[in-house]
Amino acid sequence: MDFNGLYETLIFCGFLMKCRRLSNSPNSRGTSPSHAAAMSLSSAISPSSYAAIAAASSARTPIFNKKKTAAVLSPLSLFHQSPSLSKTGIFLHRGRKESSSKFYIAASVTTAVPSLDDSVEKVQLPRGAMWSIHKFGGTCVGSSERIRNVAEIVVEDDSERKLVVVSAMSKVTDMMYDLIYKAQSRDDSYESALDAVMEKHKLTAFDLLDGDDLARFLTRLQHDVNNLKAMLRAIYIAGHATESFSDFVVGHGELWSAQLLSFVIRKNGGDCNWMDTRDVLVVNPAGSNQVDPDYLESEKRLEKWFSSNQCQTIVATGFIASTPQNIPTTLKRDGSDFSAAIMGALLRAGQVTIWTDVNGVYSADPRKVSEAVVLKTLSYQEAWEMSYFGANVLHPRTIIPVMRYDIPIVIRNIFNLSAPGTMICRESVGETEDGLKLESHVKGFATIDNLALINVEGTGMAGVPGTASAIFGAVKDVGANVIMISQASSEHSICFAVPESEVKAVAKALEARFRQALDAGRLSQVAIIPNCSILATVGQKMASTPGVSATLFNALAKANINVRAIAQGCTEYNITVVLSREDCVRALKAVHSRFYLSRTTIAVGIVGPGLIGATLLDQLRDQAAILKENSKIDLRVMGITGSRTMLLSETGIDLSRWREVQKEKGETADLEKFVQHVRGNHFIPSTVIVDCTADSEVASHYHDWLCRGIHVVTPNKKANSGPLDQYLKLRALQRRSYTHYFYEATVGAGLPIITTLQGLLETGDKILRIEGIFSGTLSYIFNNFKSTTSFSEVVSEAKAAGYTEPDPRDDLAGTDVARKVIILARESGLKLELSDIPVQSLVPEPLRDIASAEEFLLQLPQFDSDMTRKREDAENAGEVLRYVGVVDAVNQKGVVELKRYKKEHPFAQLSGSDNIIAFTTERYNKQPLIIRGPGAGAEVTAGGVFSDILRLASYLGAPS
Ligand code: ADP
Ligand code: ASP
Ligand code: MG
Repeated sequence: MDFNGLYETLIFCGFLMKCRRLSNSPNSRGTSPSHAAAMSLSSAISPSSYAAIAAASSARTPIFNKKKTAAVLSPLSLFHQSPSLSKTGIFLHRGRKESSSKFYIAASVTTAVPSLDDSVEKVQLPRGAMWSIHKFGGTCVGSSERIRNVAEIVVEDDSERKLVVVSAMSKVTDMMYDLIYKAQSRDDSYESALDAVMEKHKLTAFDLLDGDDLARFLTRLQHDVNNLKAMLRAIYIAGHATESFSDFVVGHGELWSAQLLSFVIRKNGGDCNWMDTRDVLVVNPAGSNQVDPDYLESEKRLEKWFSSNQCQTIVATGFIASTPQNIPTTLKRDGSDFSAAIMGALLRAGQVTIWTDVNGVYSADPRKVSEAVVLKTLSYQEAWEMSYFGANVLHPRTIIPVMRYDIPIVIRNIFNLSAPGTMICRESVGETEDGLKLESHVKGFATIDNLALINVEGTGMAGVPGTASAIFGAVKDVGANVIMISQASSEHSICFAVPESEVKAVAKALEARFRQALDAGRLSQVAIIPNCSILATVGQKMASTPGVSATLFNALAKANINVRAIAQGCTEYNITVVLSREDCVRALKAVHSRFYLSRTTIAVGIVGPGLIGATLLDQLRDQAAILKENSKIDLRVMGITGSRTMLLSETGIDLSRWREVQKEKGETADLEKFVQHVRGNHFIPSTVIVDCTADSEVASHYHDWLCRGIHVVTPNKKANSGPLDQYLKLRALQRRSYTHYFYEATVGAGLPIITTLQGLLETGDKILRIEGIFSGTLSYIFNNFKSTTSFSEVVSEAKAAGYTEPDPRDDLAGTDVARKVIILARESGLKLELSDIPVQSLVPEPLRDIASAEEFLLQLPQFDSDMTRKREDAENAGEVLRYVGVVDAVNQKGVVELKRYKKEHPFAQLSGSDNIIAFTTERYNKQPLIIRGPGAGAEVTAGGVFSDILRLASYLGAPS
């Protein structure tokens, strides 16, 4: 430094000093001199000149340090030098009584400056387990009542010594960032926003303090706000805030909350001082919005601070610190946890307790997974992985400082003191809070949103050393943070995740860096895959355990979630998958329930609460508790829709009173809205739509629903007996995906007909013929059509007993049986259309066009003789009449007809409305495999549908 340089420095420092004096407040004990000086500068000069000086102050001025080597010191930092530095050489001096506030300005050239410590009157800073560190998050000090509560907790802790790290009152840091944003956007409302911040603290102070304490706090607050106003004005004029300006402004929330709390603790009888941690904590910027603590320097400063502030309880500001040049900085968002951990390490504390608003670290973010459980313990590594990958209950940097000295961290809930919390220490135990031993080796799950993947791809990458280094070199130059990396061993591509906000710059840098390779075709592309999220699965015991990733990916597949990239480090503590953002919460929910709860939760949407639908809802209601208890299956009906009204619920409809609720809260039916609601319920990974209508319009949506990963269960025959091409498309889709389509109740209601047929085919049997009485109505009619009655009498009887459709011709026409035949034929591999099945209608030709059912029944007796003759002919041959459907697999045909069977034949033995189906196969050749039983009625049909839903649950992982 030449003389002029030195002179300028002194003039500048002197100017700052003058300003400092001008604004020196009587109650500025707590204000670090450097910050106060910087601030008072702003109030002493016009805003525009302040901006200019502030800019100059960030250009550091070289001076010499005691080893005679050039050091870089900002003008602001000059205020922070120890008196010892000024013992020789030139100094400007403004002494104060309290040593903590004493400051000297020095620019010296000297050889033998005594060490920093020599000048400090030695008061040994006690270290060790006698220190207990508490950190209170923003919500813990969110109001005067809560601050009082915190003070009580602190006072009640009977540790020998306590250091309490405190965050800003909740929302205050956001408000402070908003001030900066407003000021640099030249939005005048920053002034009123600042007033609101002041008002909030004023009101809190009025509520908590009185007398001198209140006066001191308010003077200090007013003083700080004046300074902030001036600084924000400078930012407003410049239209820009440097990082140090911004850090300075946003850190005020902690300065105020710490003072408030310390006053209250003192009021409660605690021996307490507050610490502006900018006087103690020294950190170096470490790129990517991070800082590294300088432990050595911080320790020295802590000793110094303690020597003049001895007390049993220290209330320290979280979040804020200084650079080695004494420029105010922060530990970045949510950094107070980190502050507490650093303090814990500096004091070699016995324990760091982090107080927050949840019962501890949950197995997944409790806001996203309602079934998440509190973990009793976590290892340091697990906690680190969880927090790094998005569990914001803990700042990711918190672990390193405490791990060094094996200091346990306990996360506790200030609002639930009886909860023991989560202990983070060296060894973790696989237990949840309620003592449940986990079978799983997975501890927890966390997610990070707003990411993008970058894929660098090309044949020219394989075997070329330095490609990865060049890629990540380019990423580093942009300053982007790489969150995960994945490279296939073919070396054909490298993909990595970066924050979405940085992806464009990264891609641009890579394109520039690899221009030549791209032009030459050695690299084919630098592709951006936007809208991604990361799901991390964490657990120390996953290491060396086979099957964990298989289970994980299986759960994702079952929830129909596509995985875009995967990474697992060789420590095996973490498996990271990249997914589409819209799938993230569903994925989290799916893997969580798979590993943790083995509970299969399915969102159910019921379409058509008619006779079958309503019966199903009753069955679901009656069985829900048993299923949950015994099989860990949780079926939540999220919506019920008829053709006119629908009922939607966010958490599950109360099935004991859905009819009333539908009347009260039903809205106009809209099938798409309904499906979106049931499916969009992100906290449930799997969705099933149960179509209980007989409607072909509803059935026409199945393909789309299955494509969207929605499972379909139905007794509706329309889809499987509709146009062949659509049926084939549906089945092909079902086979290709993990989405399920079950329709057991389309044939024979609850009888196991479809599953039996599928079982035969899947195990290699060959179907020759399926023959059966598929209509309960027609079964009843012919079982009761004896010599004592006429056909029309039996039909009327069946109608009166409720066995027929309202118009019995719908049964007698045989179309319904034909639909069942076509379903079974197609299931057996025959490619037939409904029109390929000849159907013998039992409705006499002249009566087919009659308008009403009543008229039809009146006229039917005219045709009895024909049917009587057929019955008598059969009887004379020792046979009975039966109305059957036949699948002739050998000749690839199907038919529905009235046939005669010997009296000994099983079909002749039926009673009531039973169905009977005979499978003749290569294995069941001599004797057909016969299934018989009631094949119609709401109870058994709904039962068949219910059993399909449970089959779905077991396919999705429910225990058997
Ligand atoms: P504080 O202000 O006390 O530091 P934070 O909001 O930073 O509190 O962190 C606590 C919040 O973290 C909880 O309210 C919770 O919503 C969220 N969180 C996210 N993941 C988890 C998890 N796995 N376990 C517990 N809390 C979590
Ligand atoms: N108040 C700071 C923030 O909100 C630090 C913290 O609370 O951890 O980011
Ligand atoms: Mg936090």
